[in-house]
Amino acid sequence: MCPFEYYRPKTVAEALKLLDHGVPLAGGTDLIPRRDEVQAVIDLQDLGLDTIESQDDIITMGAAVKLQAMVEDKDIVPSALREACCLEASLNLRNMATLGGTVMSADGRSPVVTVLLAMDAIAILEPGNKRLSLEELLDQREKDDLHGLITEIRLKQPDFLGYEQVSRAPADRPLVCVAMARLPSEEAEKRYRVVVGGVGSSPERIKEAENGLSEGEDINTAVDATRRIYTSASDEWASGEYRAHTAGVLVGRLATEMIS
Ligand SMILES: Cc1cc2nc3c(=O)[nH]c(=O)nc-3n(C[C@H](O)[C@H](O)[C@H](O)COP(=O)(O)OP(=O)(O)OC[C@H]3O[C@@H](n4cnc5c(N)ncnc54)[C@H](O)[C@@H]3O)c2cc1C
Repeated sequence: MCPFEYYRPKTVAEALKLLDHGVPLAGGTDLIPRRDEVQAVIDLQDLGLDTIESQDDIITMGAAVKLQAMVEDKDIVPSALREACCLEASLNLRNMATLGGTVMSADGRSPVVTVLLAMDAIAILEPGNKRLSLEELLDQREKDDLHGLITEIRLKQPDFLGYEQVSRAPADRPLVCVAMARLPSEEAEKRYRVVVGGVGSSPERIKEAENGLSEGEDINTAVDATRRIYTSASDEWASGEYRAHTAGVLVGRLATEMIS
């Protein structure tokens, strides 16, 4: 085993000074198995980034909030997001894994990131108190171009939020998952979110489906656009044809529930 240096800063400012020397350590469930790749870790557990608050319909969650704390916060965390946390990992893992660590390590089948994208999540990054949409953050992560510390994730309380997935067994990671939201926006084109997982390296929005819903609550367009995304998404778990069919059913079901 390769030894690494361990730092445990008490403030975000101290942590930022250490970022040149090592990488953030949150729950460690993804990082510790990869410990041979790192020289030093900066433990985030004393930074006070573990609160969940809500004010004026904005939910603010610290990056070090554990997934299980989200599951247990029935007052603030919408039920579809709590359900996605349950489906992300088992209870033991949820008691260790954090929101920030999950966003940074999620693959394309992450229930939590699928729902966060549908909620139009904003990440706050230090240094610089930068606001990045979750889409931008995932894009930068993909290009290995993301530097800094996520301190918070902010979400608007949606008017509607739904999540559905199909997996081989109930507690498995999804073969296909869909999150759908109606957001409290004045502008129709920003109102609907349709996000799917199981098709690439990160969950993704289907803007054609969102436009169909914005322009006339057109469920067929949303279903067809979703199915097209999956046609070549075949792997050892499921064929693209199966995923396309299943995702279309899930989108149709959620859209009907949202619009009725
Ligand atoms: C048995 C097991 C099975 C798993 N199965 C899957 C799976 O099927 N699919 C999947 O996607 N994941 C899977 N995971 C990974 C799991 O989802 C992640 O381990 C967990 O969500 C990461 O959270 P963490 O807090 O433990 O992050 P850590 O392991 O602490 O960190 C993960 C990464 O995020 C960075 N990071 C953490 N916090 C911040 C922050 N605030 N700002 C910037 N960077 C940060 C770290 O430097 C590291 O690179 C599995 C893990 C285990 C142990």
